[in-house]
Order: sequence, then structure tokens, then C-alpha cells
Amino acid sequence: MNTYSRLQVNLVRGKGVKVWDDTGKEYIDMLSGIAVCNLGHAHPAVVKALQDQAERLFHCSNLYHIPQQETFADMIVQNSFDSRVFFCNSGAEANEGAIKLARRYCSLEGRRGSRIVTFSGSFHGRTLATVAATGQDRFKQGYDPIPAGFVSIPFGDIDALEEVIDDEVGAVMIEPIQGEGGIIVPPQGFFKKLRNLCDRHGLLLILDEVQTGMARTGSLFGYMYEDIEPDVMTLAKALGNGFPVGALVAKPKVAEAFSPGTHASTFGGNPLAMSACIATLDTMLKDDIAKHSLQQGSYLKTCLEEIKEIHPGIKEIRGRGLMMGVEFDRNISSLCAEGINKGILLNVQKERILRLVPPLVISKAEIDAAVGIIDALLREKGL
Ligand SMILES: *Cc1c(COP(=O)(O)O)cnc(C)c1O
Repeated sequence: MNTYSRLQVNLVRGKGVKVWDDTGKEYIDMLSGIAVCNLGHAHPAVVKALQDQAERLFHCSNLYHIPQQETFADMIVQNSFDSRVFFCNSGAEANEGAIKLARRYCSLEGRRGSRIVTFSGSFHGRTLATVAATGQDRFKQGYDPIPAGFVSIPFGDIDALEEVIDDEVGAVMIEPIQGEGGIIVPPQGFFKKLRNLCDRHGLLLILDEVQTGMARTGSLFGYMYEDIEPDVMTLAKALGNGFPVGALVAKPKVAEAFSPGTHASTFGGNPLAMSACIATLDTMLKDDIAKHSLQQGSYLKTCLEEIKEIHPGIKEIRGRGLMMGVEFDRNISSLCAEGINKGILLNVQKERILRLVPPLVISKAEIDAAVGIIDALLREKGL
């Protein structure tokens, strides 16, 4: 179905930060399949893990123990916070699970309502409940009736949150940095205040780390930057370095709201997906990819600040780690197609924001090459 306006290119192969099309033309990938292939394309450890597991067992039901699932859940817990994990297959599904878990927890607790506060400009997925949670009207048009139970307030506004809290509200759902909203970084200290407010009112803090997780922002998870812990966290995108998988992570007390039969997934946590996840996280930890992401992100920012001097069309450069947004004063949508001609994969959001989310393994030379091409494209446009 015609749900995407697609660029004229057939990508057939990838290695690290590079991809090739069916004519053999090479591209620098500054999108990573939208923040998915964080270790780069065809990472040997992930390829090997998938090959080995594919020869043994793709799938078995969650009606049985799945050792790889237990191993990977343990790895997540060891590297995040005291929690339990449910596996699914995508970001929307992980968030859908988080919404269900929060509602069930609130209902069992019986102290508060189960309404969830979300933020304008947020993005939580394309299922009906996650569209309802998403703070952007353009994703809701034509889909009435939209499920109830959500209230949206301005991003980063702690006073607005305080005002909207009543007995009906049971949880707050938020991205550490808004991804689809245009790389929006909250004010410094916001998450500390948010955590305090949630504690004071007995609200669950649900962090949608689907895009910010897995070292994208320079720490393994986005929440680590402000030294807080969520009650619930969702993961997907880079979790399997391109293998479709999602995870719902929750503190034990919250996770206990699910009991056998209350939530499920046929494919969730299958051995093949788990093998990709174990290899991905193992490599990230071994190679300290979070630190690399932070360093290369700050190098990318420096390079972008340099070309900002000669391109007055650039209004603002923002982001953290290798989750970077460059906002322009005009429509730059044509950069995507022009980038294809010049051998670079670029992404533009809301017509004016260039989103740069390359594989985290990108080298300084590759950053230089990418910024060089972007600089050339901007020169041609007279920006
Ligand atoms: C991409 C994204 C989602 C949706 O993930 P899908 O795998 O496409 O369902 C949800 N939340 C955030 C923050 C995302 O960036």
C-alpha cells in the first residue's frame, strides 16, 4: 500500500556505515534505517549469531522456556535497573504493552486512575493506542474513534504537568529526547524534576527509549544522562541491530501486574531475535559503543557548527551523542533526493530539520566525508 513516498533507489547491500544500491553505487548512511543499525550494517558478530541460531531453532512458543530470552533479559536488567522484561516485535508494540501494563497496575492498585500524560510533539507508534498517546494530530486524522485515556501537555514543561495531575492520572509517558518530533532536547534538569514529581504523586514514569536507547545518545539508555530511573522503559529500533524486536522493561513491583494470560506475543522473544539481541548488546558493551557514540557525536556537532558559520540558512544544531538535528530557516525536503545523487542517505523531518542518526561505529573520516557532502549540497542550494 502507498504508505511511504519512497526515494528512487534500491539498496541491496551494506557494510558498517556504507550501503550500496543495485547498480553498485556507494552511499554513506546517515540514517541507519532510522536509528536501527547502531553497530553498522552486517556486523560480523550479529551475522554469526543469526547464522548459528538459524541452523538450530528459529522459533518456539513462549509456552516453553527459551534460554536465549532469559539470557538477554538478564543482560538488559544487569545494564539498566532492577526490572523484568517482556519481549515483542516493534516499538509500537512495546509501548502498547507499556500502556496496558500501566493501566493494569493502576487498576490493581486502585489508588489512582489510569490516564496517561504524554507530550506535544511526541511519537509513540502507529497502533491505535500509541497513536492516541502520540502528541501530534497529523498521525490521528481520519482514525476516529481514537482510544481515550491520554492527555497531552507541552514537552519539557514541568508546571503544565503539575497542573494536569489529578486522581485520574496514573502515569507519564515520555521520550528522553523527542525523535520523530524533530530531535527536541528537554531543558537541563527536567527529568530530575519529572522523577520527583512522579514520586510525589505516585505516578509511573514510562520512558519510551525506542529511539534513544542502545547507546544512541551517548549512554546505553537515554535516562542515564540525568541519573534517574524510570519505572517502565520500552526498547526496539536498535535492539537487534536490524532484526525486528522490541522489549518492555519494568520494575518488578509494576511488572507483577501481568500474570499468565494477561498479555502475550506469538513471536516475541523467539530464539532467532534473541540471538541477534545478545550479540548486539554484547558487542556494544565490549566495544564501549556508548562512549564512542558520545565522542563521535561531539565531533559531528563541532563539524556542523563549523559549516553553520558559512550557511546562514542553518538556525540551530541540537542533540546528544549521535542523535543530531540541524534546523533550517526554510524547506529543505529536496536534500534527501539530492543526497542520493551525491552518495549519502539523509533524512528530513517536518520539512526543515535534517536528522542525522548514523551507525554509532562511524569514524571521524566518515563524519568528515558526510559533512563534506552536506556542505556541498548546501552550497548548491545557496543556503
Ligand atoms: C520509531 C519509534 C516508535 C515506533 O516503533 P515501531 O517499531 O516503528 O513501531 C515508538 N517510539 C519512538 C520514540 C520511536 O522513535
